[in-house]
Amino acid sequence: MVIAKLRDAQVEVNLAAIRHNVAAQRQALPSGNRIFGVVKANAYGHGAVAVAQDLSSAGIDGLCVATLDEGLELRQAGLGELILVLGITPVQYAGIAAENEISLTVGDVEWLKAYQQLAKAVPVTKPLKVHLGLDTGMGRIGFTDPKLLKQAANLLDDPVFEFEGCFTHFATADEAQDTYFQHQVERWHELLDALPALPPYVHMANSATGMWHPDAITGNTVRMGISMYGLNPSGTAIQPTLDLQPALAVTARLTFVKELKTGQSVSYGATYTANQDEWIGTIPVGYADGYARQLSGYQVLINGQRCDLVGRVCMDQMMVRLPGEVPVGTKVTLLGRDGNEEITATELADQTGTINYEILTSLSPRLKRIYKA
Ligand SMILES: *Cc1c(COP(=O)(O)O)cnc(C)c1O
Repeated sequence: MVIAKLRDAQVEVNLAAIRHNVAAQRQALPSGNRIFGVVKANAYGHGAVAVAQDLSSAGIDGLCVATLDEGLELRQAGLGELILVLGITPVQYAGIAAENEISLTVGDVEWLKAYQQLAKAVPVTKPLKVHLGLDTGMGRIGFTDPKLLKQAANLLDDPVFEFEGCFTHFATADEAQDTYFQHQVERWHELLDALPALPPYVHMANSATGMWHPDAITGNTVRMGISMYGLNPSGTAIQPTLDLQPALAVTARLTFVKELKTGQSVSYGATYTANQDEWIGTIPVGYADGYARQLSGYQVLINGQRCDLVGRVCMDQMMVRLPGEVPVGTKVTLLGRDGNEEITATELADQTGTINYEILTSLSPRLKRIYKA
């Protein structure tokens, strides 16, 4: 795939904001707690290797990814931290994880037995680091039965394994109503009780749990995702308790400026027609860059002012009504701050019926990433 460079359209990442957010969470936790930075999905669009390298030099305790491929990308980039794959890895690839000292999540006994066979047949030279997933109510992956969990822990005595961690994940930690959350906490304790001994890393907190349920945290490690990037896990439902700074902006420069005459139309479907003469700019970003087509008619920032998009967002370009004639090359902020105005990922999510996570992870590799230390 082409990774664009020669193009005035970019994702700007402020690494200092990410470090600030991690420090804010660290300060709010009892001392001795560890933080894993969640850098899955290309670090929520911010760029996995660059973010991981910065976190590493700032002393992060580990990194979480979604897939083994994402983990290998970080190892091959030279990151030496603990790297945990949060999803289930097909057992036939698990030897590659062991050789690269990448930790895998395991959620059933059969997987462990299959790996024992495989590791002895190949053979694998290093023990496979395992985190047991405990399903306390997320209903996605992991052990629900204490007996099977205990059996798994016993299988991990085999030297082909290293029992490194156990964890759970909450379904409703970002909601004001905490009945379901408390139910999951109870299940967590019941399942932990089934383990003959606790592994070095015990983790149950995502961003929302780290922020709104610090008293419920048992274990020694928080997996920090969306809040590390400076966004509220609940969208706008609950106020953040940490001082969060958004780390990402999307900007571009106008590639074309013209005066549209009364009665002339813009973009596919000719859905927009000028009812007066007006200045129109073309922005070299479209839905293929992850700027949703549902944002047709929404706003961007130019010279610190909100300006309306006109006509449909195209695959690679879109048009904006300008406050007047401005030069080609004028900066446009699609997401982020310009002067006193700010368009947040949460705002764009509200506009498109999704969550800020999806706004960030949709930003395509075609937008170059630029880093500010
Ligand atoms: C994605 C993910 C996280 C991070 O979630 P945030 O809400 O972004 O903090 C933590 N744990 C697991 C298991 C995940 O899948």
